[in-house]
Amino acid sequence: MTDDGIAQGSAPGPVPPVVQRARWEAAVHAGATTLADGAMGTMLFASGLQFGDPPEIWNLTQPDVIRRIHRGYLDAGSRVLLTNTFGGNRLRLSLHGNESRVAELNQMAALILRAEVDAAGGGALVAGDIGPSGSIMMPIGTLDFGEAVDVFAEQAAALVAGGVDLIWIETMSDLEEIHAAVSGVRQVAPSIPLITTMTFDTRGHTMMGVTPERAVHALAAWGADAIGGNCGNGPDELIPVVAKMRAVEPDVVLVGKSNAGMPELVDMKAVYRAAPEAMAAYAIDIREAGASIIGACCGSTPLHLAAMGRALGTSA
Ligand SMILES: [Zn+2]
Repeated sequence: MTDDGIAQGSAPGPVPPVVQRARWEAAVHAGATTLADGAMGTMLFASGLQFGDPPEIWNLTQPDVIRRIHRGYLDAGSRVLLTNTFGGNRLRLSLHGNESRVAELNQMAALILRAEVDAAGGGALVAGDIGPSGSIMMPIGTLDFGEAVDVFAEQAAALVAGGVDLIWIETMSDLEEIHAAVSGVRQVAPSIPLITTMTFDTRGHTMMGVTPERAVHALAAWGADAIGGNCGNGPDELIPVVAKMRAVEPDVVLVGKSNAGMPELVDMKAVYRAAPEAMAAYAIDIREAGASIIGACCGSTPLHLAAMGRALGTSA
């Protein structure tokens, strides 16, 4: 893939809402299992990103590395891939003085993934990734709901401008904050398909004490198209979370994106040790629990996703 790739695919720019919706329906039709992608951060660190550096800058400075990571997951069979924009909101970017670059960084990330997906053919979906604001909501923290909505709306608008098919809000712990994110997305893209996943890493609850049942009810009521869990302490904690969601919401599309096992701290870094075979077994188990969009999070690589795709029968 060269720079020409962006021009060779469909013309860069927003995907029309009816096309976004049609692609979504085709991917998640009844009975279908869809393989999502794996870790971005893990792959970036393996490519030389230093801890503390903002990964979103690499969309501009190292676009070939980002492309190669996306291509690895496409080749592994992933059919929903996330842009490199987890921390691409102005509050997190402000930690490095990049708060004025939200539009540029998110739009470029979307263009990069759009170009890779189009070049690969096969109709994978480009998901605009939105992670937490990095600030704590009032009254415990200082972030007010209206400002949070603005922050997420700004990021979502840039992702849509860059040509995403859907938005994926992930790794949230606070129901108020994910509500603000859903509202922000809906402000700028009222009908875009929306996946929402929270992190249930505290005895099956989020860090802020949200249960799977409460999360799935609230997010369904707010109009999310798919709901689930990502990151956290590995499959053993995430599989019951999905099962609990399924028990109270029989019809919603459920999502599981587990870390590659329980993180272990080695030299002050989190290390994940689950082998591809273990993640393949997880993929089967979480589908049985009710998930139909299945991927992996921290510690996973294209090798894990390929094994999962083979186990699920989603690989070509
Ligand atoms: Zn993770």
